[in-house]
Amino acid sequence: MPDAEPVSRCFAPTYREARAGFLEAVRRRGLAPESHVHPAARGAEGEALAIDVALAGAADAPAILVVTSGTHGAEGFCGSGVQRALLADDDLLRRAGSGGVALLLVHAVNPYGFSHLRRVNEEGVDLNRNFVDFAAPRAPNEAYAAVHDLLVPAAWPPTQANRDAVAARTAAMGAARFQAVVTGGQGVRPDGLFYSGERPAWSNATLRDILRRHGSGRARVAWIDIHTGLGPQGHGERIFAGVNDAAELARARAWYGADVMSYYDGGSASAEVRGPVPMCVYDECPRAETTSIALEFGTHPMATVLDAIRGDHWLAVHPDAPPAVRDAVKRAMRDAFYVDSDGWRGMVLGQARTTVLQAVIALSARG
Ligand SMILES: [Zn+2]
Repeated sequence: MPDAEPVSRCFAPTYREARAGFLEAVRRRGLAPESHVHPAARGAEGEALAIDVALAGAADAPAILVVTSGTHGAEGFCGSGVQRALLADDDLLRRAGSGGVALLLVHAVNPYGFSHLRRVNEEGVDLNRNFVDFAAPRAPNEAYAAVHDLLVPAAWPPTQANRDAVAARTAAMGAARFQAVVTGGQGVRPDGLFYSGERPAWSNATLRDILRRHGSGRARVAWIDIHTGLGPQGHGERIFAGVNDAAELARARAWYGADVMSYYDGGSASAEVRGPVPMCVYDECPRAETTSIALEFGTHPMATVLDAIRGDHWLAVHPDAPPAVRDAVKRAMRDAFYVDSDGWRGMVLGQARTTVLQAVIALSARG
């Protein structure tokens, strides 16, 4: 990475500092940031919450590469660091510019969750399950309701009896089926995990507006949505994030390599997701050729990450929890989605740069 921005300097310990650092990096690059401030919600420190946007490149460039961070709130520490490194990367931005590729950096898709250390937004909605067609009949995932009370028990930390019951249910369902039921998205418990919501969230509408204005006139749109919490620690899994379309998947593998995983064929660390964020590209950029992936960096074993999410949802319905329990839940959420070491941060930046460069080269190829 550029000498001017050492690995650790791209990353921030809070949303407030991450936002300030991103805006500073945007201005240092000579760009004008575009800020969408949340109309009501405030951050954990009382600060304003916003989705901030930077466009690096020409308004009429034929191709655009969208890089988003913080779709899952607390996962934003990672993606924010990647975006700041990209803004300091003279070589990469020069290659993009000469290839006719504009870079659109969208910082903190879920600023509330980023600040409050939650995966979900100010309404308890998992934004990466919120991009479904609410007008169409949907399967609400009734199977989730049967495991909810186990996942969010009356007491936290959970009793040994609760842990045994979760393990027994996982074994009875099979680990893959359990993961699909719990994480695929559900519309039955607003206080539950991976809740899709009942309507498009503020972030959903805002992101669609950003994408329409910056992307709809382009011939080609690529999207890299940065996540953390699944897979081996430090590995960045490229997870195909388009519709189940063989041509788009083949294009993603041609660009990024044979290790683009698809949850449609069971090869990914992720179960099939209903309503992920990049689905809106088909609505907002209908004439463009689109290629979307999530870049998912591993942190800790799935059981550890799931425990953190369970505690977070327990805390949301127990706002009077003792401060020590509250602090432990918040710390577990932070640690579950961000490994605070230069080794991990270096792996993140190296793989992210490779992935972005691959997209830039592929988008440039046909002029
Ligand atoms: Zn995520």
